[in-house]
Amino acid sequence: MIAPGSTIGILGGGQLGRMLAMAAAQLGYRVHVLAPEDELPAGDVAAQVTRADYADRGAIDAFAATVDVATFEFENIDVAAIRYLAGLVPVFPPAAALKVSQDRVAEKRFVAALGGTTAPYRAVDSLADLEAAVLALGCPAVLKTRRMGYDGKGQARLHTAGDCAAAWAATGGATAVLEGFVRFDTEFSVILARGVAGQAVYALPENRHVDGILDSSHVPAAGGIAAQADAAIALARAVADALDYRGVLTCEFFATADGPVFNEMAPRVHNSGHWTIEGATTSQFENHIRAICGLPLGSPALVTGAARMKNLLGDDVDAWGAFLADPTAHLHLYGKREVVPDRKMGHVTWLA
Ligand code: AMP
Repeated sequence: MIAPGSTIGILGGGQLGRMLAMAAAQLGYRVHVLAPEDELPAGDVAAQVTRADYADRGAIDAFAATVDVATFEFENIDVAAIRYLAGLVPVFPPAAALKVSQDRVAEKRFVAALGGTTAPYRAVDSLADLEAAVLALGCPAVLKTRRMGYDGKGQARLHTAGDCAAAWAATGGATAVLEGFVRFDTEFSVILARGVAGQAVYALPENRHVDGILDSSHVPAAGGIAAQADAAIALARAVADALDYRGVLTCEFFATADGPVFNEMAPRVHNSGHWTIEGATTSQFENHIRAICGLPLGSPALVTGAARMKNLLGDDVDAWGAFLADPTAHLHLYGKREVVPDRKMGHVTWLA
């Protein structure tokens, strides 16, 4: 057990790290953030900050010497860096979880082997592969880079076979996967915390995306999801068990007439779980800290009948005054100075 008073290392300096650091502080931990960017929302609330590349072994050595346990808040970190750090201090979630979630093809194979259903897909390494994949899967379809994608980046829709060249150019000719378009009723996620003893599964949020980016999450999810919840939760638990997981794991699903279709997983706390800060007895951030420190998990139960979380993207954040004027709104701002279209600047949660 890593007792309160110890220091937790976080690789990655964004808003997820910021909210993890705040939860850690509440439990009496110190946090040391390591990330390469100049602007670090997590660094603003951490006891110590190291600005370095994840591949900088000297910086990782010095970082490891100051922390008792480490985690990551960003999944596009080279697995080699995580493995190197794990040779120095305990790191949770395990590097294997990061590895499988970094490659959309490996992730789909992994989940299918556990009995999950994914979108039909083909691995694509060239324009010729893409043309063959479109013939096999039909249109509409979605081309996604295998690696380094997030928030709908590195994706292109194909409406006809004639779109192949444009889609291939749009994703930069990187190694990719073509997915058949899933005709879903809605989207939802399973957020679970797995500790040394026991698991905590949150109420399933229904997630609404705009242009591939999460716009809002709603708990409880609409009625149609109820029939799919058990199967989706069972799959998420199987994923966590297979990886001998410690920490918060998120699996995203499409709700379809034929049951839940697995979309992707994130080996970390997730945007669709931000409502848990006010809406659950123990937030996803606190349960992640508890899990990686070997503490008992807290209850994931809803504290109220319903919760709704809305992301503030780009200049949505300019309306902060209006949200403060609403006495029922819980406003969270991430302290990012540069407003960029679609950049996650903050979020607002309402309980009902
Ligand atoms: P992703 O980055 O894979 O989560 O994709 C972002 C969003 O694009 C998803 O949340 C869906 O709204 C949409 N999307 C992605 N893949 C598919 C698919 N195969 N079929 C239909 N919609 C998709």
